[in-house]
Amino acid sequence: ASWAAAVAAIRALPRDAEVQLICHVNPDGDALGSMLGFALGLRRLGFTGLRATFPGQFDVPEPYRALPGAELLVPEPQAYGKPALILIFDVAGESRLGDLVRLLDAGAPAIVLDHHASNTGLGDVSLVDPAAVATSVVADELLTRLGVELDAEIAECLYVALATDTGSFKFVRDPSVHELAARLIATGISPGDIARRIFDTRPFGAMKLAGEVLGRAVLDPAAAGGRGLVWTFATSADLERHNQRPYVLDSLIDPVRGVAEADVAVVVKEQTAGEWSVSLRSKGGVDVSAVAVALGGGGHRLAAGFTAHGTPDEVIARIVPLLAANLS
Ligand code: 5GP
Ligand code: MN
Ligand code: MN
Repeated sequence: ASWAAAVAAIRALPRDAEVQLICHVNPDGDALGSMLGFALGLRRLGFTGLRATFPGQFDVPEPYRALPGAELLVPEPQAYGKPALILIFDVAGESRLGDLVRLLDAGAPAIVLDHHASNTGLGDVSLVDPAAVATSVVADELLTRLGVELDAEIAECLYVALATDTGSFKFVRDPSVHELAARLIATGISPGDIARRIFDTRPFGAMKLAGEVLGRAVLDPAAAGGRGLVWTFATSADLERHNQRPYVLDSLIDPVRGVAEADVAVVVKEQTAGEWSVSLRSKGGVDVSAVAVALGGGGHRLAAGFTAHGTPDEVIARIVPLLAANLS
């Protein structure tokens, strides 16, 4: 029923209608890829009033600046008008929209494309599939239902989104995900080039910064009912010292989660003075989504996050009892 409502709402719009596409704060590959891929699909349908944005400082992470459709990205609006339609990507709840929630308050209809089990049900039409590995799976489905044929530009965006949220397909069990990847690759995109650009290219300073952040990691084998916790943190001062942008910290959870002695990995990243973005990962022994939800955030069973205040030690002290309480 929701699919039909979404298709009808989009088909009913005049082609010059103002359509505002938005995604979550500190956008990742799924947020930007699904949003821009869908925007390009709407452009193929003849829509001319497309605007894509995300909350906070207008600082597109370097790896995503060359995404097809990136020219549709504009800074968060100063004044909030009332677009004809709002499309929301990879957003589990209003807290992930920063000041952009004011767009929703203006009363324009909003369609939400998402895949978080913790989705709060924001928006008027909710296309939330917790079984989808990325929001781009939902975006592909809606594009198909709108009669948009994949081309290489749309496919590159959706592929980046899919590869980002699946850890380059490491966690995929559902053959239909690889079938989608196959359809995307069949448009002529180059997965090797994309992977190098998105995952394997970082400034020298980012590597030096990673060395420091990983070097201060702490292992607590007794945490999480003996399943173990490994954690580290990165401050704004670390970023400044190495002249790096915050996005370079997002991939550091991957080496941390690889620690054999711990089921749970945590990276605490300073956003602004005393405000931290926390990444949680589990190998299956703990439901980190439940932990994140208890602390005001959300996510998935094996990958979740929340925003915290205080010192890194205080943040970890809040997490530890919740790990033991959410063994799975
Ligand atoms: P990451 O650690 O890669 O930033 O995020 C892992 C997962 O947790 C993603 O699905 C992301 O959407 C979710 N997540 C991260 N931070 C937050 C947060 O502050 N609030 C909510 N609701 N979800 C978050
Ligand atoms: Mn995301
Ligand atoms: Mn996602």
